[in-house]
Amino acid sequence: MPAKKPTPLSELGEFSLINRLTKDFLKKNPSTIFGIGDDAAVIEGGEKCMLVTTDMLMEGIHFDLVYTPLKHLGYKAVIINLSDVYAMNAQPQQITVSIALSSKFSVEAVEELYSGIRLACEKYEIDLVGGDTVSSLTGLAISITAIGEAMKENIKYRNGAKVNDLICVSGDLGAAYLGLQVLEREKSIYKDNPSLQPVLSGYDYILERQLKPEAGKMTIQSLYENKVMIHSMIDISDGLSSEILHICENSKVGCRLYHEKIPIHPQTIQTADEFNMEPLICALHGGEDYELLFTVPLSEYDKISSIDGISIIGNITEKEDGTNLVTKEGNEVPLTAQGWDGLKKY
Ligand code: ADP
Ligand code: MG
Repeated sequence: MPAKKPTPLSELGEFSLINRLTKDFLKKNPSTIFGIGDDAAVIEGGEKCMLVTTDMLMEGIHFDLVYTPLKHLGYKAVIINLSDVYAMNAQPQQITVSIALSSKFSVEAVEELYSGIRLACEKYEIDLVGGDTVSSLTGLAISITAIGEAMKENIKYRNGAKVNDLICVSGDLGAAYLGLQVLEREKSIYKDNPSLQPVLSGYDYILERQLKPEAGKMTIQSLYENKVMIHSMIDISDGLSSEILHICENSKVGCRLYHEKIPIHPQTIQTADEFNMEPLICALHGGEDYELLFTVPLSEYDKISSIDGISIIGNITEKEDGTNLVTKEGNEVPLTAQGWDGLKKY
């Protein structure tokens, strides 16, 4: 009998792979309240619960040092982890930082990276409490774990959405993706002609969204102050479409998003036009927005409408109605997830 051919990683995709690798791990400790499958794990910790989440960034895959200042990279590496803690409606408190360094990095370069990590720690009031430092043959890797806390009853999961809930999103979408397109364009122009200076003026907003994103601290704060009841929540790291599908799948519901309600910054629209892209596609599938996507019962409409920077973009429907987007013309089209997949082929 011929040996079974090894399965290429790209055949499964990130989520199926995680599922296949972890499905045979049985829960042994009652302190594990929620393990794999949300933005952060939830662990019993006395009066409050502890939240744990981790993310790794690889040079050449997640960042390009040609156009990413090390200070910004350090800042962003922290932010993407804090974002996952806020997405559970919890407060991040500590991080650990592990780095793999190749010999091309100087002490000063690593200090630059850490100045960004420190800036994020100061701004978000986080303590750096440990990590690991190792050698690498192939470039820089940064792995950060964030630890947060919340009262058990305040924690929000992806699985809490209910039929008729309003679907809400903070900030605007698609900007970070277009910021990346501008950086990539200038990089390739520079490669062909090193005497040309990169043209980055006029793109300040989208570049900042790509290089120096912020996490949802303010959103969580205003939802708390306005006593908004939240049913489900997730952060937008892989694109709106992929994240709303996570909420719908986990909550066993459907959704209807409205194209004209999706918040997109004017600079995002302008840059999308320049690249001959549809701004909506960038907002749906772009990723790296680190905004919060959440659902609230209809009764919260007035409270939500009174909060600056939050848009109501649709509603939760019965599962049988599917997951759809209503176009500007009023047609309903099925939503697909084409967002970032950590294992896509390069
Ligand atoms: P996010 O985009 O919010 O950071 P991910 O999509 O990276 O979340 O991960 C989805 C879930 O799978 C999370 O609960 C995460 O902790 C878990 N997970 C990811 N990779 C692994 C792995 N290699 N082993 C175990 N659990 C994993
Ligand atoms: Mg997340």
